[in-house]
Amino acid sequence: MHIAIDTHTHSLASGHAYSTVAEMAQSARRRGVRGFVLTDHGPAMGSTHRYHFGNLRILPRHISGVYFFTGVEANILDRNGGLDLDDAYLERLDFVLAGLHEACLAPSDVEGNTLALIRALEHPLVDAISHPGNPVYPIDARAVVLAAFANGKAIELNEGSFRVRAGSEPNCREIARLCAEIGTLVACGTDAHYKDQVGRFEKLPTLIRASGIQAEQVINRNLRSFEAFLARRAAEKHAHGL
Ligand SMILES: [Zn+2]
Ligand SMILES: [Zn+2]
Repeated sequence: MHIAIDTHTHSLASGHAYSTVAEMAQSARRRGVRGFVLTDHGPAMGSTHRYHFGNLRILPRHISGVYFFTGVEANILDRNGGLDLDDAYLERLDFVLAGLHEACLAPSDVEGNTLALIRALEHPLVDAISHPGNPVYPIDARAVVLAAFANGKAIELNEGSFRVRAGSEPNCREIARLCAEIGTLVACGTDAHYKDQVGRFEKLPTLIRASGIQAEQVINRNLRSFEAFLARRAAEKHAHGL
């Protein structure tokens, strides 16, 4: 399967990533993807100030011939799914990822880690959770995949996990299998921290095929499907705010 939009990328603003937005866009174009979402880490990871997220709207929708979407990888701060970016910032973004990172929340037991992810999925402004296959945070994968389904949110399959999160592969396989069984939406992200990684999907297409996930479940399989997901979520977020 070809994945048209990369839903998880980091720029210099993340503090431990190494490319500018312009460089990432040029690289995405060369890679042959239609677009990418800029999901720099939320403020609790270090150098990204909340103003970074507030001002993303000044960037154009097209950069160097690819579609550009605004986003964040917010940090889950507690087992109630508290996030490190206020709603006033989250609601300005196209796509909100939330994830567990050791710098922001120490790993707990299965019950605690699972609850943190489920609460994040229940957050009205969160669209997907990032790298739930990270073995540092053992979870009840079925409960998490069911919660994503119930809330109309996506589970991320993370290409970068195969590079940098040792031991992720069996967990990702199991999570993908559960997404196929339950019918949960899936978002494919590279977790690029350097321009050459943007849109570079090497293992995920095989993982998706082997798991039995249907193309219709992958929200970023093409530009139209991703925009349809964002439009549906924007309507839900708006309805929640009224
Ligand atoms: Zn990072
Ligand atoms: Zn992450």
